[in-house]
Amino acid sequence: MTKLQNIIYISGSGRSGSTLLERIIHSSYGVSALGEFHCLWRLHENDITCSCATPFITDGFWQPVLKNAGIDPAALAQLRDLEDRVCRTSFIASHRFDIKALRKNPDVQRFLDIQFRIYEAVADASGSTVLVDSSKAGPRAWLMACHPMVRTIHLYRDPADVILSWRSAKFDPGMGQEMKRMTVAAAATDWWKVEYLVKRLGRNTPVARMDYSELCANPEHTIGKALAKLSLSSDPVPAWIDPTSVKSKDNYHSLNGNPDRFDKGPIRISKREADWSKVSAAERLKIASVAKILRVILPSNPTS
Ligand SMILES: [Zn+2]
Repeated sequence: MTKLQNIIYISGSGRSGSTLLERIIHSSYGVSALGEFHCLWRLHENDITCSCATPFITDGFWQPVLKNAGIDPAALAQLRDLEDRVCRTSFIASHRFDIKALRKNPDVQRFLDIQFRIYEAVADASGSTVLVDSSKAGPRAWLMACHPMVRTIHLYRDPADVILSWRSAKFDPGMGQEMKRMTVAAAATDWWKVEYLVKRLGRNTPVARMDYSELCANPEHTIGKALAKLSLSSDPVPAWIDPTSVKSKDNYHSLNGNPDRFDKGPIRISKREADWSKVSAAERLKIASVAKILRVILPSNPTS
């Protein structure tokens, strides 16, 4: 039986590069990445396609894991219900942005207990002692940080790139449809929210900050530095082929995330440049202005 030692939680706004980061860390021996794990109860089971290209309901990895963890539809409904109550900025604020206060809340404890039953079963099924959960959400980062096994990496991506990405069409083969698009205001608010929440979280507990641009410019150094900061029981070592590519590892069962999770073969790391030609001149101006303000309020500030 493989004993779970740590969960690496990747926080960040949508479109911040978390799928790339988790795929790189997954290539390490003894590590399994799970994608946006919270989709397990947030999405309908028919809407989940595992990154091994199997529909979730017949997936040869997840179905036995849930069975072994004793997770039935009622337990998933309970997670959904608890999430509705505790995984909210207002809930974190009502606990004065204090991890110690959150930790004492019985609903937070129940919410984490059920999830850790699943994580333990994943560790056992995969033989991995370190799991990566890249759900990204800010309130979730707070709840996860209540558990002593959890370590947080925050992935920062420039707000203009993020907002522009939300405005561009992208097809998701896992969902069989185009990925959701947000208005500029909604994308900016979403970005601000997670940055604000994680900045405050960093005053309570260590958070390894990583800038997407740095990750792409100098992957090995940036990831090595962030992982070293996490004080994990054992440090993951990604399977580098050369400074900008990593050998992908099998047994990747990500529940949701960027469509790149379906790619096989080596993981090539290069910065996806924002394509400004996809939006109108007026929208370009709007995005640039909003991003300028956001950068001043919440700068990248990697702790390097
Ligand atoms: Zn699978």
